[in-house]
Amino acid sequence: MAPSPVPALFIDRDGTLIADAHYLADASRVHLLPGAANAVAKANAAQVPVVVVTNQSGIARGLITHAQYEAVRDRTSALLSAGGATVLATYHCPHWGHPKAPCECRKPGLGMYREAAAAHQLDLMRSAYIGDRWRDVQPALATGGIGILVPSIETPAADVEEARSALSARIFMVENILEAVSLALAMIGARMPLQSPSQV
Ligand SMILES: [Mg+2]
Ligand SMILES: [Zn+2]
Repeated sequence: MAPSPVPALFIDRDGTLIADAHYLADASRVHLLPGAANAVAKANAAQVPVVVVTNQSGIARGLITHAQYEAVRDRTSALLSAGGATVLATYHCPHWGHPKAPCECRKPGLGMYREAAAAHQLDLMRSAYIGDRWRDVQPALATGGIGILVPSIETPAADVEEARSALSARIFMVENILEAVSLALAMIGARMPLQSPSQV
């Protein structure tokens, strides 16, 4: 029998885990944001998988090559590892299409989440969606999960406004990534039976 799907934390990369350098092509310029490694390590300790999901339209725009993207991704993982933190997988959308005909993977589209869920047996409905833009949080509304906006200095006021007007039992806004992960883990724990019925 296939293992039953588990909740995960889907976390944005630029402006959430690493400093947003705008179309970052140079791996030597990757800097973790304060608390990023601790936050991911906390999820690791709770055995909740962390999946990084990132829109990288710079690839389609010709500003970043695929090899540069991969170098930045690997550097991000290495810095997290050095901080005792492990990411299960990273998904990226390389596209940049017409706003009226977007690809399925560019956030807030669900393509990357669905791909991760299928590959790693993740339960999108019980997962948390964390990032510094409203489009990182919006998938919570579509999946039934928990959404947490962590505004950065780069977050447009309109995104903060969207989150503010959606605040509810499922949509939250907190000050930093560590707080976001702590909240997500508490919420996931509260929504998840500690023992499956067969173990009772
Ligand atoms: Mg971001
Ligand atoms: Zn895409």
